[in-house]
Amino acid sequence: VERRVVEEKGLESAVVKSKPMPLPRSRKRILVTGGAGFVGSHLVDRLLERGDSVVVVDSFFTGRRENVAHHFGDPRFELIRHDVVEPLMLEVDQIYHLACPASPVFYKYNPVKTIKTSVMGTLNMLGLAKRVKARFLVTSTSEVYGDPEQHPQTEEYWGHVNPIGERSCYDEGKRTAEALTMDYHRGSGVDVRIARIFNTYGPRMLIDDGRVVSNFVAQALRKEPMTVYGDGKQTRSFQYVSDLVAGLMALMDGEHIGPFNLGNPGEFTMLELAEVVREVIDPAAQIAYRENTADDPHQRKPDISKAKALLKWEPKVPLREGLPLMVEDFKARLKTPKQLGAS
Ligand code: NAD
Ligand code: UDP
Ligand code: UDP
Repeated sequence: VERRVVEEKGLESAVVKSKPMPLPRSRKRILVTGGAGFVGSHLVDRLLERGDSVVVVDSFFTGRRENVAHHFGDPRFELIRHDVVEPLMLEVDQIYHLACPASPVFYKYNPVKTIKTSVMGTLNMLGLAKRVKARFLVTSTSEVYGDPEQHPQTEEYWGHVNPIGERSCYDEGKRTAEALTMDYHRGSGVDVRIARIFNTYGPRMLIDDGRVVSNFVAQALRKEPMTVYGDGKQTRSFQYVSDLVAGLMALMDGEHIGPFNLGNPGEFTMLELAEVVREVIDPAAQIAYRENTADDPHQRKPDISKAKALLKWEPKVPLREGLPLMVEDFKARLKTPKQLGAS
């Protein structure tokens, strides 16, 4: 093996050394569903950068071709317009299954479609993983904990979800996706990974996506008041997208199934978030209070001890460092009139 590696690499000088050379990591063919979306497109960047081939499957419901357009023409990149609710035949080594709207505004827009995406979409991708013996990673969510009665949330917590509420299309859809994933693992031996993602922000979020960080940033840049829902005392923990992508890749390439919380434990009330946005964009930015939405979780903060211990992963980018990076991207896109609205 040592000789072959040395010959392949053409490093004659290494032959004299007695230490075996590490085998080169084999290049993989990787499917990323939802790869034209916010998180998916950043993941695709990193996978291509390290030398793998990537197939993106996306329906463009909340994703945009622009997010991956910089890879057009790369022979290791392929983009397929496809709805994961329909079966799909491909040959791949790994599947990162992200396809699903993530913003409450979009997942509530057609709740039945959201459930179909989580349930039938995940079933199809698990069927595909089973057939081609690919490793399968599902992006679940902190929403499986609902309005949590345990704080911070550990992976052992079973959650406090309203099964018939307006958010349940997303929450229960993802809980079913997790259940299906474990059933394919136990029943069919599919090699699986489960990530529970906490609120993530960064460049390429849709400007009118409806999530709180993108709303506040767009509003402050447009000199509109930041809309705080309810009394603004509810909390969230905000993770910068590069940290999430590193966590997803560590999970996929590691030996542990999970579930793993992937999030930044830094916890902020919505009023504190508005204060940070003021610091970064405009100290004069105003706040306008709006009625809160139904079943809004009061507090959310990940316990990431498990990911730290087993994946050797933890987030590196605090909110005050990540937010300016997102603001630059939003500023540039707000200058382009056609991208003012959600596309
Ligand atoms: P996003 O809306 O930007 O990306 C989702 C992508 O999936 C989009 O490109 C969309 O077009 C695509 N999609 C939706 N339905 C589809 C379907 N039926 N078939 C094919 N493609 C479809 O959202 P995101 O923030 O990038 O989230 C990615 C994943 O991470 C989602 O599964 C989401 O539930 C999960 N997640 C995200 C967060 C977060 O804060 N960003 C938090 C928890 C979980
Ligand atoms: N499936 C798919 N691509 C594949 C293999 C399966 O989309 O390469 C779909 C298939 O159409 C089915 C689902 O995945 O709806 C579950 O497949 P599985 O083989 O587990 O179950 P079955 O087809 O026996 O119901
Ligand atoms: N929120 C807000 N103003 C907005 C959008 C959201 O105050 O313009 C609040 C919302 O009520 C929730 C928190 O921000 O408490 C996070 O909402 P988001 O939709 O970003 O994500 P969620 O964690 O609820 O899925």
